[in-house]
Amino acid sequence: MNADRYARQRMLQGMGEEGQERLAGATVGIMGVGGLGSPASMYLAAAGIGRLVLADPQVPEESNLNRQVLHWTEDVGTRSKVDSAARKLAALNPNIEVLAKAVEVSRDNIADVFEGCTILLDCLDSVPARMVLNEHALRTGTPAVHAAVEGWHGQVTVMVPGETPCLACLFPRAPRAAGDIPIIGVTAGVFGCLQAGEAIKLITGIGQPLTSKMLIGDLSSQYWDTVEIGRARECPACSPHSGR
Ligand SMILES: [Zn+2]
Repeated sequence: MNADRYARQRMLQGMGEEGQERLAGATVGIMGVGGLGSPASMYLAAAGIGRLVLADPQVPEESNLNRQVLHWTEDVGTRSKVDSAARKLAALNPNIEVLAKAVEVSRDNIADVFEGCTILLDCLDSVPARMVLNEHALRTGTPAVHAAVEGWHGQVTVMVPGETPCLACLFPRAPRAAGDIPIIGVTAGVFGCLQAGEAIKLITGIGQPLTSKMLIGDLSSQYWDTVEIGRARECPACSPHSGR
């Protein structure tokens, strides 16, 4: 019954019926449904990921709308971001399941919130929240696709626990809270799409994921580069001496 919806991606080398079934069988957890989480979840829904778990405690505000494209004027102040997102994703693709969890994800509840997720997306904007995701990913061996954006530039990498640098290797200390950062919506759109693409690659085994590599890009100058990244010897989260 879904022959037409996925016909064009089924034609991709390495995809076929088997790849599409892998997408349908996957559960992807998306932490943060804002500027990154909006495009990431839209493209994952469109691709037919069987189950999306969305977690975000916030309600859309007007100042979110320049970049958080799943949230529209009618959603401002009226419903949670996850509810707002789930409505649009269900309309986009009614064949998938979307679980909306309007909760602040913490060390205490993250195992429940993302139970059954085979891949996690770090669509967050704060280092302490990223560390909660990181700890859970390391503990459960779950791959995570990280992205961060500001202004016109951003970065994306794929973390595979025990193999690649973890998020604590990349962010050894939390920067001081900067308040509202400047950002144009297209930056979040591009990097959120890249996260969805990496997740699809991980699920289907197609291509080369951005493991132990960081893609950095600046849309204002169109400077793009992919740099090798390594694990921090003294990482408090993933080094052999970290007590894990
Ligand atoms: Zn580490």
